[in-house]
Amino acid sequence: MPARLNLVVLGKQGAGKGTQCKRLAETYSIPHVSTGDILRAAVKADSALGREVAAVLEAGALVSDDLVIKLVEARFEEPDAARGALLDGFPRTLAQAEALERILGDDGVKLCVDLEVPIELVTARLSSRRVCQECGSIYRDTDISAISGTCEKCGGDVIQRADDQPDAIHKRLETYERDTAPLLEFYKSRGLLVSVNGDQAPDEVTGAIMTAVHERGLA
Ligand code: AMP
Repeated sequence: MPARLNLVVLGKQGAGKGTQCKRLAETYSIPHVSTGDILRAAVKADSALGREVAAVLEAGALVSDDLVIKLVEARFEEPDAARGALLDGFPRTLAQAEALERILGDDGVKLCVDLEVPIELVTARLSSRRVCQECGSIYRDTDISAISGTCEKCGGDVIQRADDQPDAIHKRLETYERDTAPLLEFYKSRGLLVSVNGDQAPDEVTGAIMTAVHERGLA
């Protein structure tokens, strides 16, 4: 296994990045670094950072490159990231991808997984998505935890994210096409891109990603 297994997971909102990163983080014993989770936690804690970004998150727009780059830089200084990390929701712009190369130095991104899912499916997934505010578990609107509003795993409140409302979904998907889709070419040109069909059962998606990791001798 290389000194650091840094994996970037790309894909439209609702492609299953969070679900897959949680599983892979356990499998490879590296942290799941989700900039969206970090920002949402700041909003929930009503910290200075949270107050600065709350409106941007709610509208489904991107927060500034400088701000997220600083967050990720600080996250990589924590000891648990010494063996690498699964990056979910970062990078999202070319400037962020270039900054990540700087942050990681020689031991850079080892693989970028693109979770491919048709736009109709992600739109349906996002509108029916409910999340636990405490543990981050993801449910569908038809699951018992979503209907009761109480997470069956931890007892936390299960809610619909403000940015999973129709207007914000539309805006986020547009932003993805404009700002984030160009990263596919960025990683492809470096020989690091692998595309995985995200429209299959979660176990099968995880299996396909693990196969790609093994085939490249990364774990
Ligand atoms: P996510 O959970 O990854 O969909 O992120 C939720 C929201 O957090 C996004 O809609 C953005 O407002 C913000 N965000 C998360 N990651 C980034 C990033 N890398 N760059 C800019 N904004 C981000």
